Amino acid sequence: MNLFSQKIKLLFILMATLLVFTATRCENGDQDPKEDVYVIMLSMDGFRWDYAERVPTPNLDYIAENGVIAEYLLPGFPTKTFPNHYTMATGLYPDNHGIVNNNFYCEELDMTYRLGDRDAVENEAFYGGEPIWVTAEKQNMTAASYFWVGSEAPVKGIQPTYWKRYDHNFPYENRIDTVIYWLELPIEKRPRLITFYFNEPDSQGHHTGPDSPEVNEKVKYVDSLVGDLMEKISRLPIADQINLIVTSDHGMAKISTEKYVDLTDYVQRDWFEKIHGGNPMFTLRPKQGMKDSVYNLLKGVNHIYTWKTDEIPERLNYGKNPRTLDMIVLADSTWSIGWGEPSERFYSGGTHGWDNAKKDMHTIFYAIGPAFKETHVHPPFEVVDLYPLITHLLNLDPAETDGKLERTIDMLK
Ligand code: AMP
Ligand code: ZN
Ligand code: ZN
Repeated sequence: MNLFSQKIKLLFILMATLLVFTATRCENGDQDPKEDVYVIMLSMDGFRWDYAERVPTPNLDYIAENGVIAEYLLPGFPTKTFPNHYTMATGLYPDNHGIVNNNFYCEELDMTYRLGDRDAVENEAFYGGEPIWVTAEKQNMTAASYFWVGSEAPVKGIQPTYWKRYDHNFPYENRIDTVIYWLELPIEKRPRLITFYFNEPDSQGHHTGPDSPEVNEKVKYVDSLVGDLMEKISRLPIADQINLIVTSDHGMAKISTEKYVDLTDYVQRDWFEKIHGGNPMFTLRPKQGMKDSVYNLLKGVNHIYTWKTDEIPERLNYGKNPRTLDMIVLADSTWSIGWGEPSERFYSGGTHGWDNAKKDMHTIFYAIGPAFKETHVHPPFEVVDLYPLITHLLNLDPAETDGKLERTIDMLK
């Protein structure tokens, strides 16, 4: 055999080896399992930006010391649970994804959305945009969700491979065990993206107000759950491939019956065809022909803002979606609004939903894992930026969003 044919033979062997190697990689989902990156995003509802400064939170402190902490995270408006969790999932402002409040009316569907209404929450027709688990599943990446808003409906016909129907009282410890169980599944079944939800310290914050000792106890408790989750993650063979983000949807502020505006002092409830939302923000549709008169009556009232939807300040990114109806009325920070005498039950303790520029509405961002810098304090950024950050971490092709990777990229190694 001459040198030339020997070279051809060698080339042939080399190509065959390469082919076998590529085929093996494809069987493993196109990636060497050792290179796989995992992301868990945990939201602890209503965790105000400063809660961890008030009580010992050794586990969140550990993340800050060995990973990233943001000065604060800026939620979208309104600073309520459903709009913001779906913003975190899609990278879109509520106006652009359609979950414009915890409850709203959609004229196009002639249907009302309410967070307590299972049929509505599981109806994909309400959800716009592309949740991150849909982005993942579309690109053949397995995703899981434990109670994240939107994951209970087949948005764009797709749900995360693993998801759970919301069960408010299901024990947190068991939720953590399921997340760990998912991460122990064989590689071909194992989710690479997990969105995970705790409803505390929000529920406690509503009940006793943000400054109560009970909230402090709840903050310590959810911190211990973060510790439990991290400890269980550390025992996994893939521990050093997991990026954990601990974040939340909004803050919390104190309310009282003394700082209350009774809207019926100015307008009558039956002048409206539709009233949606809840303290401190209502979306309104006055009855035909009454829009201007109602607007004029509410416009000058102290401690509230009344805006037609086309005059809402630009920075709130709100009012272009028809689901925001004709006008909104928003209480000034820590003031409340309602229809009639305020009850102690609904107007004491705490709530959220105000202008997102108000400090009390700001929330937290912590992150730790192989992708994140250590001991890095990051400037404030927005909840819309979480989607581009996570798609970047997972090497996914992102959908178009309102978020910006530039605002978070510096926290990565
Ligand atoms: P908010 O009124 O904005 O404080 O909403 C917080 C509440 O939303 C929580 O206490 C839960 O009861 C509820 N919630 C959160 N996620 C879901 C879900 N996926 N399905 C139904 N309710 C939920
Ligand atoms: Zn919330
Ligand atoms: Zn709440």
